[in-house]
Amino acid sequence: MGDQRAFDRLVVQDGVLQDFKVSTSYAARDGGRQEWEWQLNVLATILREHGYQVSSIEVIVIVRDWNRNVAERDRNYPQSQAVRIPMSLWSEERREEFIDERIRLHQAAWKELPDCTPGERWSRPAEWALMKEGRKSAVRLYDSEQEATAALEKAGPKHSVDCRPGRDLRCESFCPVVRFCDQKGRQLAIEPTTPANVEACSKPA
Ligand code: SF4
Repeated sequence: MGDQRAFDRLVVQDGVLQDFKVSTSYAARDGGRQEWEWQLNVLATILREHGYQVSSIEVIVIVRDWNRNVAERDRNYPQSQAVRIPMSLWSEERREEFIDERIRLHQAAWKELPDCTPGERWSRPAEWALMKEGRKSAVRLYDSEQEATAALEKAGPKHSVDCRPGRDLRCESFCPVVRFCDQKGRQLAIEPTTPANVEACSKPA
């Protein structure tokens, strides 16, 4: 749950539990971060145990890097600087199972620290960009080298393919415990999606 320990607003009459967050446009896309849903479901259980009913949960995101031009071009980008993202309120049974599991993981971590998953590292896989001479942005991005190479053959002369390495955004810039972490160093050697597919990107496309 990070450092989020409290909810911001419970509309008691309607049972709407809201959390206000300042975050990035990336986090606010596609329904928001999974851990926001986890956090609000745990808080809903705590509220229920204190006699308050929660009927829905939602996050209000203040998008700190919001850009009107991008919003006009991309319908998946947050369409205003403050967006409301409804989250899924689980059944009581599922919430309690989730809390039990988190306690179990927390206790197990005292004996052996688990590795962070790609989701927890905010991993972005490598991409292959079809580029055109004289143009700075990619004509199109592809998930695999094979797709990009096929597109390059069709696109003809004055085109090329650039590999953009995968990244672990949280490890790189946001993890508060990065200086204690040995996984980040190991990750470079074992994960094809991390900083960065250096091997994949070193091959000619
Ligand atoms: S730096 Fe380490 S602890 Fe932090 S997210 Fe990355 S792998 Fe996890």
